[in-house]
Amino acid sequence: MNVHEYQGKEILRKYGVVTPRGIPAFSVDEAVAAAKELGGNVWVVKAQIHAGGRGKGGGVKVATSMDEVREYADAILGMQLVTHQTGPEGKQVNRLYIEEGADIADELYVGALVDRETQKVVLMCSSEGGMDIETVAEETPEKILKIFVDPTEGLDRAEAEDVCGKMGMPSESISEGADFLAGLYEAFVKSDASLAEINPLIVTGDKRVIALDAKFNIDSNALYRQAEIVEYRDLSEEDSNEIEASKWGLSYISLDGNIGCLVNGAGLAMATMDIIQLYGAEPANFLDVGGGATKEQVTEAFKIMLANPKVEGILVNIFGGIMQCDVIAGGIVAAAQEVGLSVPLVVRLEGTNVEQGRKILDESDVKLQTASTMADAAEKIAAAVKG
Ligand code: GDP
Ligand code: MN
Repeated sequence: MNVHEYQGKEILRKYGVVTPRGIPAFSVDEAVAAAKELGGNVWVVKAQIHAGGRGKGGGVKVATSMDEVREYADAILGMQLVTHQTGPEGKQVNRLYIEEGADIADELYVGALVDRETQKVVLMCSSEGGMDIETVAEETPEKILKIFVDPTEGLDRAEAEDVCGKMGMPSESISEGADFLAGLYEAFVKSDASLAEINPLIVTGDKRVIALDAKFNIDSNALYRQAEIVEYRDLSEEDSNEIEASKWGLSYISLDGNIGCLVNGAGLAMATMDIIQLYGAEPANFLDVGGGATKEQVTEAFKIMLANPKVEGILVNIFGGIMQCDVIAGGIVAAAQEVGLSVPLVVRLEGTNVEQGRKILDESDVKLQTASTMADAAEKIAAAVKG
């Protein structure tokens, strides 16, 4: 699960990481009121969307008067912000964050994530803040310093101070820099994050170390014990089909293609997506209905796929182990009756109760093609959408 920058900064503050003072705003008037409450004479108006690169896309503006705060808030709120992480259609900005301006002397980078190889949390630190870290990793990998943290020992103070010096902090800032890394590490672990990225963290003119940006990804499997973080969830940032599917306990991920896929088992779902592509079409979604799907779940899955205007055909590929083919068949018929089947459908059923399943489909008036093998199924659906 992703959270907004201002929420990430709330998490950071709990663990002693210093951030600028700021107030979220949902309207232009709230933005101006926030700037007044913060005081001072420089404010930053920041778009809150679940994507980075906002600065370059025009979603971060420095204002030096209340009129400018109003002007920038008005321009950014409601805009369709396009960044390298949003895709070409961009994302609508529904929230702002108004922050006090910071006096930036140097921009640095710190990211925390789990390193699978060493099975440790790694802090990636770089002098190249404010830039795309992927570019730094590719072109100047020596500028990324890594601290692997032993989970039983915690972050080593001396190592943290050493890296702070190597990433370019002046000597007066190093103690604060090490506190910063320790706070970030604690925030990462305690909030069950899978990623915490501060780009940039800055050294100010008076040598303070501050998080100017915050990006957190939280491990969704840990949300059951992260009640406060669950409150941060912003459904408007999520794919509506995925939200609907999750309500029904379906593992669904939206993709860009034209073939809706209904499959049981993640491995079979992946293989189905591959074979669709082999035959020249593209999957519109990943959908694993699981081992014990009910007729209602199958019906909902069909409704979600059929509501997607990109879907030109549907492929059902079921291997009935625990899943029973007659349940799937019943779901297909129910969905077709309820919402109408507007696109070609290819069904491949194998396994438990396959004969009953085929009978249900044969006896219904649902228009479909059956397939015997996966290749046969993929070829048929690809041909059907080509017309
Ligand atoms: P991102 O583009 O989505 O990563 O958004 P950031 O929060 O990182 O902001 C982008 C850039 O705006 C930063 O790298 C800074 O250079 C600049 N910026 C952000 N806050 C301030 C501020 O308080 N003062 C100044 N002068 N620049 C800022
Ligand atoms: Mn940033």
